[in-house]
Amino acid sequence: MRVAVIGAGPGGIYAAGALLGTDLAVSVDVFDRLPTPSGLVRYGVAPDHPKIKSVAETLAAILEAPEVRFFGNVAYGTDINQEDLARHYDAVIHASGIPDPRPLGIPGEELLGSYTADEFITWYNGHPNAELSTFLDARQVAVIGAGNVALDVVRMLLRTADEVGATDVPDDVVTTWKRASAEEIHLLSRRGPAQAEFTTVELRELAKVEDVDIVIDPADLELDPAGEQLLEQDKAARRNVEVFRAWADEPSTGQSRRVHLHFWSRPRAITGTEQVEGLEVERTALNDDDQLVAEGSREQLEVQAVFSAVGYVPRLVPGLPVDPDATAVPNDDGRVLASDGVVPGCYVAGWLKRGPTGVIGTNKSDATATVATLLADAEAGGLPAPAAPDPDTVPALLDERGIAYVSWEQWLELDAHELSEGSNQGRVRSKVATVEAMMDIAHRARGSP
Ligand code: NAP
Repeated sequence: MRVAVIGAGPGGIYAAGALLGTDLAVSVDVFDRLPTPSGLVRYGVAPDHPKIKSVAETLAAILEAPEVRFFGNVAYGTDINQEDLARHYDAVIHASGIPDPRPLGIPGEELLGSYTADEFITWYNGHPNAELSTFLDARQVAVIGAGNVALDVVRMLLRTADEVGATDVPDDVVTTWKRASAEEIHLLSRRGPAQAEFTTVELRELAKVEDVDIVIDPADLELDPAGEQLLEQDKAARRNVEVFRAWADEPSTGQSRRVHLHFWSRPRAITGTEQVEGLEVERTALNDDDQLVAEGSREQLEVQAVFSAVGYVPRLVPGLPVDPDATAVPNDDGRVLASDGVVPGCYVAGWLKRGPTGVIGTNKSDATATVATLLADAEAGGLPAPAAPDPDTVPALLDERGIAYVSWEQWLELDAHELSEGSNQGRVRSKVATVEAMMDIAHRARGSP
């Protein structure tokens, strides 16, 4: 059986791994629009989380298997399309779950100094589409959202240039970081402490950053009946609230930076003329129907930058059906569902399958479940036979279209370059951040087109 996987992030690569773990004679081609594998692990995970980043080694071991080929720098929807895949493969697993940041939808979002968390994250992680900005100049900053992405943003804003310099970020990120000056960070959650989406391990990490006081107004931690009930049912919420209470009880130790955690606080407007100068925040409460309502009072925070980390909205994938009310592609345990029924041979894994939730490891069980669905369909004779199953026809097609793809060996050349550049500077790696430079280095490898 020949399977194409679209997206070389954790969802796609774990799906390839799950296919290899079956009794089937299977070969898998993994495509990514970028020249590099690992997706979210390379471009989403914070660089001060080297343990999570090391998942890239597990993913690499899967891509190194003889039954798997990597085709980097090949964009689904542009370089290859749905008809190509149907012609060459028995099945396709879409795992290119790149959603778009959810807009805040408040006035002032367009001001200089107002950013999505993704703009910051992709920049420091050296994503080729990211643009260098000046946000590190702000002394007072607001971060909006009570999820792990918001925590990543706050923690990274507190990292010193030396700390960032020890990681794998591109060299110019280290240079820019020398101007980092955040002293006062306001982390805003529109609901209460019990409803926060943070995971406790990530939360506790905040307190481990040096030279920082965490400040919480104890009044923010008073629980309403819905919060009390949540604590009884949800262990994670209980642990989070214990952490908040411990922080609220700690006296300030006069550190030079402060993180203020505000609950029941939602942004109403980012203020300023060209540049962010402040954030108008409204106090909230939950009504008897558990709906978020204004409590009445407002306050103005003085900030020069705002980062929104309020989740994601799905991005359209050519050829895949959309449910406007859902954050994932309509599917039945990975089997893609159109309005008129199952799309034969078409599957989803990762965020495309379940929406923007879960940690990296969630992708493994999730991809394994998709592969089980695919195998059940294969056994039931439900996969359409491809017209051109010969594996050689795929690189021939890409060559014919003049697509300079990056093979696994070529990626290894780029990988070795980044590691050696990093090692020369006493760092773990120095990422190359433009596609042009990546392609130059990758194509120095043996067998380059
Ligand atoms: P998330 O966990 O869904 O959190 C989004 C937050 O934004 C929620 O607190 C939500 O509040 C809030 N929000 C939504 N719309 C808002 C608005 N208009 N105004 C103010 N607040 C608003 O999403 P995420 O942080 O993007 O994380 C996505 C997934 O990646 C999660 O599963 C997360 O655990 C995972 N992740 C994991 C790690 C890690 O393990 N280290 C790191 C990063 C991300 P409501 O609850 O009130 O809607």
